[in-house]
Amino acid sequence: MAIGTPEIEAWLREFARCIGSAQETLSELDSAVGDADHGANMDRGMTAITRMLESNAGWATPGDLLKDTGMTLMRTIGGSSGALYGTIFLRMAKVAGDEPTLNGQVLAEAFRAALQGVVDRGQAKAGDKTMYDAFAPAVEAFDAKLAADGAIAEAFDAAKAAAEAGRDATAAMKARRGKSSYLGEKSVGHQDPGAVSITILITAAAETLGRAA
Ligand code: ADP
Ligand code: MG
Repeated sequence: MAIGTPEIEAWLREFARCIGSAQETLSELDSAVGDADHGANMDRGMTAITRMLESNAGWATPGDLLKDTGMTLMRTIGGSSGALYGTIFLRMAKVAGDEPTLNGQVLAEAFRAALQGVVDRGQAKAGDKTMYDAFAPAVEAFDAKLAADGAIAEAFDAAKAAAEAGRDATAAMKARRGKSSYLGEKSVGHQDPGAVSITILITAAAETLGRAA
């Protein structure tokens, strides 16, 4: 089965639910490496998305829903992560175009474009201790698994495992981007909050899009 608008809705609802549960953890991490607002920022954004889904605007295509999501997150999250998460969904929307459903190849392309959007916005490189360090390996793993056996569910499981490993690896890194870069050595020993939230996004995708496929 390909992925349509209802599956994207399920992904967003699951992401919103998990961000709600992780809000305190995200802000605690951001208090160690930044300005303690990442949990509140993400929860504000995803609460707006939940409200948007409840208003049931009846999106004709996954692309329409992804675009509205990106614009809403851009407006409501704030901070650096508002621009980054907004860009992630807007770039995915662009790749989705007006297709009624998304297959594995289109999803892979959409995630690749989203990652490029993060780089365009924030210029992060591997090892800078940002969401990139969890997102990039996840995109690579998704592509590789899809190319190897073509199954979306396994590709999502591989992406989730790669994101988790990338997220865990950020603890040992010294921040070189965003507000946490001001802390330098003091950022070492704590996971990057954006790497944690992006891993939640990918895990939510594995649980919903991966199971639907
Ligand atoms: P702010 O830094 O404005 O307080 P948040 O606390 O909401 O924003 O988000 C911080 C997260 O955003 C970081 O943990 C990091 O993962 C991500 N981030 C910040 N700057 C960049 C960047 N230049 N490139 C990629 N990710 C970044
Ligand atoms: Mg912050």
